[in-house]
Amino acid sequence: MPEVMESDLVVLGAGPGGYAAAFLAADKGMNVTLIDAGEKPGGTCLHVGCIPSKALLHAAKLITDARDGEPWGIHFAKPKVDLAALRGQGNKIVDTLAKNLLELCKRRKVEVVKARAVFADSITLELDNGTSRRFKHCIIAVGSIPIVPPALHLDSPRVMDSTAALRLEEIPGNLLVVGGGYIGLELGYVYAALGSKVTVVEMTDGLLPGIDRDLIRPLQGRLEPLFQKIHLNTKVTKMVETGKGIRVTLSSRDAEAERAEPSEKESTFDRVLIAVGRRPSTRGLGLEKTKVQLDEKGFIRVNEQRRTTDESIFAIGDVAGEPMLAHKATHEGKVAVEAIAGEAVAFEPRAIPAVVFTDPEIAWCGLTESEARRDKREVKVARFPWLASGRAATLTRTEGLTKLILDPETDRVLGVGIVGAGAGELIAEGVLAVEMAATARDLSLIIHPHPTLTETLGEAAESIYGTATHLMRVPK
Ligand code: NAD
Repeated sequence: MPEVMESDLVVLGAGPGGYAAAFLAADKGMNVTLIDAGEKPGGTCLHVGCIPSKALLHAAKLITDARDGEPWGIHFAKPKVDLAALRGQGNKIVDTLAKNLLELCKRRKVEVVKARAVFADSITLELDNGTSRRFKHCIIAVGSIPIVPPALHLDSPRVMDSTAALRLEEIPGNLLVVGGGYIGLELGYVYAALGSKVTVVEMTDGLLPGIDRDLIRPLQGRLEPLFQKIHLNTKVTKMVETGKGIRVTLSSRDAEAERAEPSEKESTFDRVLIAVGRRPSTRGLGLEKTKVQLDEKGFIRVNEQRRTTDESIFAIGDVAGEPMLAHKATHEGKVAVEAIAGEAVAFEPRAIPAVVFTDPEIAWCGLTESEARRDKREVKVARFPWLASGRAATLTRTEGLTKLILDPETDRVLGVGIVGAGAGELIAEGVLAVEMAATARDLSLIIHPHPTLTETLGEAAESIYGTATHLMRVPK
């Protein structure tokens, strides 16, 4: 008989959803066990996702920013990149954050167990260290893994997923990126800045499908000269290892001539990065031994408190539905713990911000113009092009755009979209506006510091009234 231990709460998966849930539960006095198969807590986000990719993006931006010095008469020599040092710096950041997480677990008396766990039934997990764990409640926070379609299965070290690409084993002479989404564009930008000739293939007719096209155009304008080629409406149908590279068959569809046969072209690349999406990590968890059900897309079915169809089990983060973003997982984790503690809570955000950390960044929250159009919902859109921003001019980054999606009757801010330098930081004001039910008038009346890019939010709001400041009245 394996040794059976007991916990009030077991959190399965120590990513930003799992550890946030574990910390809050411990703060509320629960006896918490955090189980993860990884060496240290932090999950995909810390070890092979957000943090290492943002570290590399920072390094890449140092290179492209130095190039941007030329119009100012500031010329740097071509950068010499010491790959070992670059990797070392990224690893140091990750290690420090992981160590801090362990310390926070220790201080809160969260028991950390390094093991792979499988459900034996609705209240028991079996661990691969030979023990079992019984729980009153469990929160599943096991995340997601990259999708590799059958045509792209090739057992070669030259074919990378995002985890392998982040290891930065070399700077390939030429790199094919399959998928023009978040990962493809972020890592494509990193490799291009480091000196690879990067080709992107995207199967739909635009980069970052689903995002408003006016936000994409400025990014595409900056990526086109940086990348070798961006092929839209294109799929990879075959990949062969030649010994010297990967020979790839690209099949392109002519978007204008819908019925025409796709045209095929062969090219050889030193490396290929596959970034065509992720799927929830539900396989091999033993969920069939519980009452947990999956939805039609393979996510764990949860209610507004993140409780699954099994009363004692909750699920949060990538495994519990889109969008697959760390901050959504963190927030869900807190809601699940509060629900377990008997509080009247629900996960009902109006705005989950999303940021693509390319240069320029793209960020949006709440309702997008594309969603409004798709749902035939009438909205008013206020746009402020950064050409008219003094701060953008001083940064020589006037390609940006800030837009507000407004209710046509009340001018309530329903969504915000920004493309431009630092959009990922600027979107926080948009989130506040949407969540606090601000109107465009509210945004136009608050004083933004000058000269900053935050003014573009106020200016976008003002654009629908003309100059609005003089309209402020003290209510009688
Ligand atoms: P994604 O969904 O962002 O993009 C995948 C892209 O690949 C899409 O544009 C899709 O049309 C395209 N595609 C799919 N099949 C294809 C094929 N056979 N050939 C060519 N193109 C194909 O997925 P991702 O980039 O793999 O990222 C996965 C998830 O990770 C994201 O959805 C996001 O939730 C998360 N993520 C977030 C960040 C961030 O917050 N900055 C960064 C990286 C990843």
